[in-house]
Amino acid sequence: MKEPSLPRACPKPFAAATRQENLDALAAETFDVLVVGGGITGVAVARDAVTRGFRTALVEKGDFGSGTSSRSSRMVHGGLRYLENYQFGIVFQCCRERRLMRKAAPRLVRPLPFLYPLYTETKPPPWKLRMGLTMYDAMGMFQNVQWHRWLEADEALRREPILGKRGLLGAARFYDARVDDARLTMFVARAAHSEGAVVANYAEAVSLLNAGDKVQGVVVRDRIGGKEIDVRARVVVNATGVWVDGVREQESNYKGRTVRPTKGIHLVIARDRLPSHHAIAFDSPRDGRHVFLVPWDDHVLVGTTDTDYDGDLDNPAATRGDVDYMLEAIGETFPEAQVGPGDVISTFAGLRPLIYAEGGAYALSREHQILNGGSGLITVTGGKLTTHRLMAEQVLDLVERWLGEEFGVHAACSCSTKQALCGAELANESAVPLRDDVVRTHLVDAYGADAAWVLAYAEENPALGRRIVPELPYLLAEALYAVQHEMAVTLNDVLIRRTHMLYETPGGGLEQARAVAEVIAPRLGWDKSETERQVASYSAQVALTGAWR
Ligand SMILES: Cc1cc2nc3c(=O)[nH]c(=O)nc-3n(C[C@H](O)[C@H](O)[C@H](O)COP(=O)(O)OP(=O)(O)OC[C@H]3O[C@@H](n4cnc5c(N)ncnc54)[C@H](O)[C@@H]3O)c2cc1C
Repeated sequence: MKEPSLPRACPKPFAAATRQENLDALAAETFDVLVVGGGITGVAVARDAVTRGFRTALVEKGDFGSGTSSRSSRMVHGGLRYLENYQFGIVFQCCRERRLMRKAAPRLVRPLPFLYPLYTETKPPPWKLRMGLTMYDAMGMFQNVQWHRWLEADEALRREPILGKRGLLGAARFYDARVDDARLTMFVARAAHSEGAVVANYAEAVSLLNAGDKVQGVVVRDRIGGKEIDVRARVVVNATGVWVDGVREQESNYKGRTVRPTKGIHLVIARDRLPSHHAIAFDSPRDGRHVFLVPWDDHVLVGTTDTDYDGDLDNPAATRGDVDYMLEAIGETFPEAQVGPGDVISTFAGLRPLIYAEGGAYALSREHQILNGGSGLITVTGGKLTTHRLMAEQVLDLVERWLGEEFGVHAACSCSTKQALCGAELANESAVPLRDDVVRTHLVDAYGADAAWVLAYAEENPALGRRIVPELPYLLAEALYAVQHEMAVTLNDVLIRRTHMLYETPGGGLEQARAVAEVIAPRLGWDKSETERQVASYSAQVALTGAWR
């Protein structure tokens, strides 16, 4: 099938084939900055580095966002709960970043109206919540969508009839924002690539290239082709999330653990079982922790837990105990909905890369930390999806100083990454000629102006214009788009992170996985046995989301 000739949201190709070209380019030169880790932190660091004019590369051992950055609560938020602990600095930072992200990527980062219902005998008392929200509005420079409002119980129930009535005092209404975390991470990686960074997924840093006590690059293994290459760089940034200690251990002056992973899980439930127009913050009756319900198209996400974790970092999963904890909290706040285990479509679990400290997991700081041992390896960890741009800016300020002092290499410009994210602009739905409203809205939300590309594949081959599974708006053509424009190179990339089919239909639509694999197989050079291997790998992920059963 030939490629349509349409303008692209991002002019430089970011196809599966680009990955191979980039792997070849990695071996060919010495970079100023090499980033290890393609979660939201790493891709933001790469984007900031290349924007400042440094020769930049990034290697990610799996897919972009396949670690924690595709398993969050998908909120860009100021962090109201930090106000309870008087962490004003972090709330101010988060509110500012929320504002900047909405400006830079308005299609991806959308306003999210929130309700925080209060009940008799629960904390905080209404006056305290309202005081906190006034501060929250102030920290957002009164520039949020709307200032908060207090709703009396009857108005709160009118707006959200699913709330439990007994003891309801009223609810505070305020705004945060929502974001598709996995797609945001891929967009930032693509933007870095568009600006000149050499970016590759499925490229694992297996060891550091040390010369004495200096780090001069990393040995990278191509996890698809199997080849190993030396990638040389003046500075290596370790942005590997919960894996940072595995990289740091190889540094000559490593002194002990940096990160304490804690696990958080989410339940995915059909929206009609918990029909809510707002995100809702409520408390777990078991331990008083905050829990969130976040509406997500035809679903709601409910999460999350926060427990210490020492299992397999690559495959965290919800346990029966985690699911029961969440169902208990749902039952307490939404008693009439009668949500039970049978309503759980799927689950997902992520690991927070929190800064190592003693004490209870929930109390651990959400702030970030940047470590420079003076060897040429800079480690960044902690933080949040919301603060990724700020973390990157601070890392680059340090890198810029180091490159100047050690190598006489200076930034070409002092541009920052506050500018718009390419491809994340708002788009006009009426420009997409489709009769199916649900599919049209989905395509415009996910691809913006590039929805025309997805449709062009379907025009060329009408079979690609059908939905992958009837209950979800994803088209087969999106699989092809993901391979050609979003560097998807496995079936899991397509069905878990470019679309979210894994989570949104019971059994992850496994029966249709082979049909999707067969659409992309010719582009990815898969023979029959590789196609089967891809389906088996997806099947293992489906099993993981239901392992708690
Ligand atoms: C349950 C939960 C809910 C959350 N909700 C929110 C929220 O709503 N809002 C918010 O702002 N934040 C939220 N967070 C926090 C946020 O998701 C994380 O802070 C953020 O995603 C961490 O990104 P990261 O890039 O540091 O780590 P990761 O996303 O894990 O990225 C690290 C990457 O490094 C790669 N890697 C590891 N080793 C190597 C190697 N040797 N070579 C190459 N690559 C390697 C990994 O494959 C991985 O992709 C949540 C976190 C959790 C767990």
